[in-house]
Amino acid sequence: MIAERTKKVKPSPTLAVDSKAKELKAKGFDVVNFGVGEPDFDTPEHVKEAAIKAIRDGFTKYTPVGGIDELKEAIIDKLERDNGLKYGKENILVSCGAKHSLYNIAQALFGPGDEVMIPSPYWVSYPDQVLINDAQPVIVETYEEDNFMLQPEVLENKITPKTKALILNSPSNPTGFIYSKKVLEKVAEIALKHNIYIISDEIYEKLIYDDEKHISIASLGEEIKEKTIVVNGLSKSHAMTGWRIGYAAGPVEIIKTMTKIQSQSTSNPTSIAQKAAVAALSGPQDCVEKMRQEFERRRNYLVAGLNSIGGISCKMPKGAFYAFPNISKVLGKKVSNNQINSSMDLSIYLLEQAKVALVPGSAFGAEGYIRISYATSMENLSKGIERIRKALEELK
Ligand SMILES: *Cc1c(COP(=O)(O)O)cnc(C)c1O
Repeated sequence: MIAERTKKVKPSPTLAVDSKAKELKAKGFDVVNFGVGEPDFDTPEHVKEAAIKAIRDGFTKYTPVGGIDELKEAIIDKLERDNGLKYGKENILVSCGAKHSLYNIAQALFGPGDEVMIPSPYWVSYPDQVLINDAQPVIVETYEEDNFMLQPEVLENKITPKTKALILNSPSNPTGFIYSKKVLEKVAEIALKHNIYIISDEIYEKLIYDDEKHISIASLGEEIKEKTIVVNGLSKSHAMTGWRIGYAAGPVEIIKTMTKIQSQSTSNPTSIAQKAAVAALSGPQDCVEKMRQEFERRRNYLVAGLNSIGGISCKMPKGAFYAFPNISKVLGKKVSNNQINSSMDLSIYLLEQAKVALVPGSAFGAEGYIRISYATSMENLSKGIERIRKALEELK
């Protein structure tokens, strides 16, 4: 029999939408894919060259489990340069993607009887990574009228003696909003008062618009740094999703435990990808800025387009590459015999009728919303917006 523990876990719903869209595409349908969670840009040339050189040089063997020193040093430099955080090599673990870093943290920290607070709308993997380790996710709601900002009082009300950790994600997938310094300071204060760990997923750090600024909660003071594990990676910043390089920075004991766990599962991340990651972190960063500017242009276009569609209202996100429009006015409407009662119904309707793939808000714990990724061309954005407009006009 399959282990009991696994029954609580569901496959990633975002990957499910993506595969359904790809299936329709393979059948010859012209699908606009707004479901994707990865940049559509190519990995920068100098990063690819570093990997090719690694292969030619024969750098194709096992490396130390937690990553090569050269990469750890590049990560340490980055954390100091961008985030004002000082770490040593003993505080760093390189894993096979940020998702793997988060998984290692969950294995190292969570167990039966533990509660882990997750603000909603949340990234789909957080609750399931908690559940697979027999701990309990505790959802802390945030609201559109607060720009999906965590309300410290709501957070504190959810704390019990079992509360072990809080998972933060700023800029947020799926909302695209960013935590302000004021809220982060309050959250840090609450975490220290109740002795709670903070897991800070900062994977979208480099994709921020309108002169907003990313702040790592770990940078707010030595005390909170000791309770925080920072997670980041190259997937979103350098269009490197397939290379599978992510990392965690945190207290020595936790990093040591995570490294031990990794040594019994994947061992080291791919040697070649590590060399590419060194080039990405230490090389020129203008490629990152170029991609950011293009995302900003698309964001502006998409949000304006969405707000011109009856029944949809969309706040301007500040980071990442998602819009998270409110579609609650559409719910309850009908086309022939088909009543749209949920964001899932709407997503299925849009995929089947309009051939537009997107993810229902319910996948992120937020009914009444849909997530639209703008990691796609302006041409696709324009086509997709018009298709959604037409499909919604059919609903009465
Ligand atoms: C994409 C994503 C990740 C995972 O990134 P990888 O490094 O590719 O594993 C982690 N957290 C969030 C919120 C993401 O959107």
